Amino acid sequence: MTDDQNVPNAMPHNEEIPDVPEVQTFHQLGILLLDGSNSMNAIGDGNRSHAENVNFAVREFLGYFKNKSSIKENFSIAVICFGIDTKVHTDITKLTLIDDFADYNPTSAGVDGNGTFIGGALKAAQNLAITFLNNPNASNLPHDVRFIVMSDGLDQSPEETKQISEELKQCSKIMVCSSLFAVSGNISDSDTKEAKSILSEIASTPNLYKTTYGEADLRQFFISSMSAKRHSEKQNGNGLCPVCNTFHS
Ligand SMILES: [Zn+2]
Repeated sequence: MTDDQNVPNAMPHNEEIPDVPEVQTFHQLGILLLDGSNSMNAIGDGNRSHAENVNFAVREFLGYFKNKSSIKENFSIAVICFGIDTKVHTDITKLTLIDDFADYNPTSAGVDGNGTFIGGALKAAQNLAITFLNNPNASNLPHDVRFIVMSDGLDQSPEETKQISEELKQCSKIMVCSSLFAVSGNISDSDTKEAKSILSEIASTPNLYKTTYGEADLRQFFISSMSAKRHSEKQNGNGLCPVCNTFHS
């Protein structure tokens, strides 16, 4: 799933390239969609709660990306937390300005944690994507958006969530990557299998889904998602895209 082309310095040969003035060749928005439901308070990897491990993974991912990428000007980040409802934790922010020391624990974001509705979070992310893809700079610089979804459990409205994700798949400027943040001892449970099935279905293509088992795994999923390529392209022809409200060429 990993394609390192967007993550300079992930490839050893990049160390030999001298510093050159940066020319922005594209702009990619990564939107993290983080599950803040109550089950995230369970203790997991490293004797920390799943939610604390997510916080760790997000901070490490942002720090790595900000400091290691030689094309960091090409990226922006937003963060959405969800339970039953959805909150924009961090609005669209240039990667260079993102606070990688902030609190990204999704259970501290003030969402209603008594359930999980991923479809609502996808809709909120779509609104951010529309704003991003319709900004004036997008007419002369290729813009695209990654939805990077992590959840530890079952969606309460799976049919609605799947329907929303099917609509998103019609837009080639939006790519949905998804991960079940799993506990290895529970991977054979029927609820876990069902959660995995829903999360893999919302990914834009099957290669964009990954089961993750701990903080380091999740961090790698975030990094891979920013550089992943679709294995197949579905597009809306050349007309006005109803998903992102822009014209596709
Ligand atoms: Zn579109």
